[in-house]
Amino acid sequence: PRLTDKLCLITGAARGIGLAIAKAFQAEGAQVILTDIDQAEGEAAAAALGGRFIPLNVADEAAWEALASQVPQVDVLVNNAGITGFEQGYIAHDPEHASLEEWRRVHAVNLDGTFLGCRYAIRAMKEKGAGSIINISSRSGLVGIPGAAGYASSKAAIRNHTKSVALYCAQQGWAIRCNSIHPAAIMTPMWDAMLGDGPDRPQREAAMVADTPLKRFGRVEEVAALALLLASDEATYITGSELDIDGGLLAG
Ligand code: NAD
Repeated sequence: PRLTDKLCLITGAARGIGLAIAKAFQAEGAQVILTDIDQAEGEAAAAALGGRFIPLNVADEAAWEALASQVPQVDVLVNNAGITGFEQGYIAHDPEHASLEEWRRVHAVNLDGTFLGCRYAIRAMKEKGAGSIINISSRSGLVGIPGAAGYASSKAAIRNHTKSVALYCAQQGWAIRCNSIHPAAIMTPMWDAMLGDGPDRPQREAAMVADTPLKRFGRVEEVAALALLLASDEATYITGSELDIDGGLLAG
């Protein structure tokens, strides 16, 4: 096992990519703590895995402080919780029509959540002087997205904050690594909701697949495998890097 005796905490782990990461880490011998804003689904997921669940809204600073008193030391943190802003149906997120309120809501979860998570992790890893922080950004953190400006901006900021954290930790002489993962088109409840259930769903799904060089959606297990590598001691020389997992989308 690649994560024996490691305590790993994952945000947004009730479903989708976060849950797949929790499963992959557990299968490699880690002690896993699932966290999510959705208590019912998070508890059910943790119970099925035999892991521990702690409710956590990543945008809430006080909640991170409460978590720090419950879990003062951690080996791996995955900042995975994220929102597109489209959860409540279609809201214009283009740079002309996006509301400041929606822009801030998306940044509060994606960016503030990642900042607070990294800060918690640094404090919870520095005594040991080692650890791995994995920030789930997106393809949208590397290219502009005209219809999801708030999402793209927050994901781009995550990419750069990852590098600041990596350099800061290295400067302190700690083996605390911090990297970002940039997925695209991974079939999860998030994508399912974005595709909707309208009559044009098959065409929209086909268009996404056609744009992707590997001609299919990615699987959550494929993202989990990359997170597992970064969490493990096989990645001890990888820090401050950004890893795309997108079926070749960003290559073109
Ligand atoms: P998902 O919507 O299926 O799952 C996200 C989870 O985060 C949910 O369990 C949700 O309850 C939780 N969450 C939402 N707001 C939260 C908050 N404030 N605090 C704590 N938990 C919260 O999404 P997913 O597709 O599994 O995405 C996971 C991450 O991967 C996100 O950061 C997303 O932006 C990123 N991502 C996904 C894709 C993709 O193709 N699916 C592509 C690029 C990036």
